[in-house]
Amino acid sequence: MNAPHTTGTVSLVGAGPGDPELLTLKAVKAIAAATVLLVDDLVNEAVLAHANPDARIVFVGKRGGCSSTPQAFIEKLMVSEALRGETVVRLKGGDPLIFGRGGEEIEALQAAGIPFHVVNGVTAALAAMGALQLSLTHREHAHGVVFVTGHAKPGDAGTDWAALSHTARQARLTLVIYMGVGSAASIQAGLLHGLPASTPVAIVENASLPVQRHAVCTLALLHQTLLAQQLASPSVLVVGDVIQGLQAAQSDWPASGHMATSQAGT
Ligand code: SAH
Repeated sequence: MNAPHTTGTVSLVGAGPGDPELLTLKAVKAIAAATVLLVDDLVNEAVLAHANPDARIVFVGKRGGCSSTPQAFIEKLMVSEALRGETVVRLKGGDPLIFGRGGEEIEALQAAGIPFHVVNGVTAALAAMGALQLSLTHREHAHGVVFVTGHAKPGDAGTDWAALSHTARQARLTLVIYMGVGSAASIQAGLLHGLPASTPVAIVENASLPVQRHAVCTLALLHQTLLAQQLASPSVLVVGDVIQGLQAAQSDWPASGHMATSQAGT
């Protein structure tokens, strides 16, 4: 960290899944120290209460304009503000290193020689399972967990769901699918290659927020359940036997026996 003293710094800060109380103390300190904050879409604006009133806040997600600010622009802005001597916080939903394009931003900062550090946040998968009071791993049900995206960049074939389903079955892994709502039908079809139709799935929308909802179903009914319950983004899909406990605990649910919704914080 031998940057000239006129150069500012950048912190890539995880704002957590939504509940402002899930911010880390480090995140609170970094937000308070920032002179410029570049704020992503999924960040709960309540966390900005920690910012200095004189700080400049730039919303670079969809809320700030008609569509998401292009990534290249965000990276340039981050670098140019730091070069001007600003203390920049790049605030991202969840953890900055999980599907947040944090890797690309780190590369841009390294290429420009900007001192930076990372402040972890609670990623959506953890918040979702915390809300459901279930473990992502379990000695009886899952030896590990895979965080995987349902949304590939244009031109990328994306996840091979069939291959992953065989691995998940053989290695006994829980799958947590981020950004999977839009392609749930094809994810379901792919996963059914290697996982039983009866594999339990939880869909958790807005984990950790007062508006949180979830549904539980089998893999065979994943897409149908999403539609029936009108679950939308941001949601994670959690696939695997660790969800079993939830089904059993709620077996007295209404007729279909496959769906249930709940509100957080009640
Ligand atoms: N860096 C973030 C993920 C960004 S990708 C993290 O670590 O959580 C955006 C995706 O994250 C959403 O499409 C959704 O799948 C998931 N997500 C983010 N916040 C969520 C929340 N509160 N509840 C459920 N899913 C969420």
